[in-house]
Amino acid sequence: MKVGFIGVGNMGGPMCRNIIRNTNHDVVVFDLNPAAISACTDLGASAGTSVAQVASTCDVVFTSLPMPRNVEEVALGAGGIADSVKPGMVYIDLSTNSPATARRVNEGMRAKGIQMLEAPVSGGVPRATDGTIVIMVGGDAAAFDAQLPLLKSFSGEVVHVGEIGMGSVAKLVNNMLAFCNAAAAAEALMIGAMAGIDLHKLQQVISNASGNSSAFRNISDKAFKREFQASFALNLAHKDLRLALELADELGVPGMIAPQVMNLMRIARAKGMGDDDSSSVIRVYEQALGREVRP
Ligand code: NAD
Repeated sequence: MKVGFIGVGNMGGPMCRNIIRNTNHDVVVFDLNPAAISACTDLGASAGTSVAQVASTCDVVFTSLPMPRNVEEVALGAGGIADSVKPGMVYIDLSTNSPATARRVNEGMRAKGIQMLEAPVSGGVPRATDGTIVIMVGGDAAAFDAQLPLLKSFSGEVVHVGEIGMGSVAKLVNNMLAFCNAAAAAEALMIGAMAGIDLHKLQQVISNASGNSSAFRNISDKAFKREFQASFALNLAHKDLRLALELADELGVPGMIAPQVMNLMRIARAKGMGDDDSSSVIRVYEQALGREVRP
């Protein structure tokens, strides 16, 4: 089978490389960044020349793209996937979108006879790299069953959560929770730093106590090592939380916590941290207090 992969950045890159390593499929990659393409062709993929060329030659096409507008453009725009389809092709979007975007793209694909699965992922670059990423899939159950072996080739946990749109719901709800955990962890660590506790000891305690979370471990590790180069860009996290808040608004669910976290992200972006890692929210506290959270 021929598998196309469009968008091989921080997340798409390692997921694509696991397909190359773990299957016998021919993989064709396309990205606007030549270095991202090389990191996959070095492992045996071939370089596509355009979205249209990938879509017209592959049986399954993945996208992993930053913003919903990038997905709509690549999927439905002029020279996009729907324009260039090979009959019987399946389209799988791994990006984080709103449920409304996923449904709209699905309608555009269906009009061209293309089956679509939305398959947002969670676990960040480390789990995309070691092949344990979680995939939450929305779409037709038979299409899901047919693509399960391919999805399992780069994931530790693939869950069919319902019809198109429900994958995005699961993803936005998960990320809202993770960002709230991260903001709470930043605030807690700042209190610890100001109190003068040994931060390694505090991390050891919390990692084994009731305050633990993957967000806590991630933000404490990054702050202690001063590693704020984007593994998951703040701009992408801000997009996810904005979509989650829009979904909450559509459903009439009040926000007590997430809007506060949104403001924290807005301040971090206003300070020029948008292209840095999303863990940079802790630097808003650090700058306010003139002290870094590091042992
Ligand atoms: P990224 O910016 O590192 O990678 C995106 C890639 O898409 C880049 O290499 C870029 O050059 C390419 N691209 C953009 N527009 C394109 C186009 N028109 N045609 C071809 N290539 C194009 O972003 P990422 O962190 O890999 O995130 C990708 C998606 O995964 C986003 O929707 C994000 O919200 C989601 N996500 C990210 C993480 C994470 O930890 N980074 C975790 C879960 C989900």
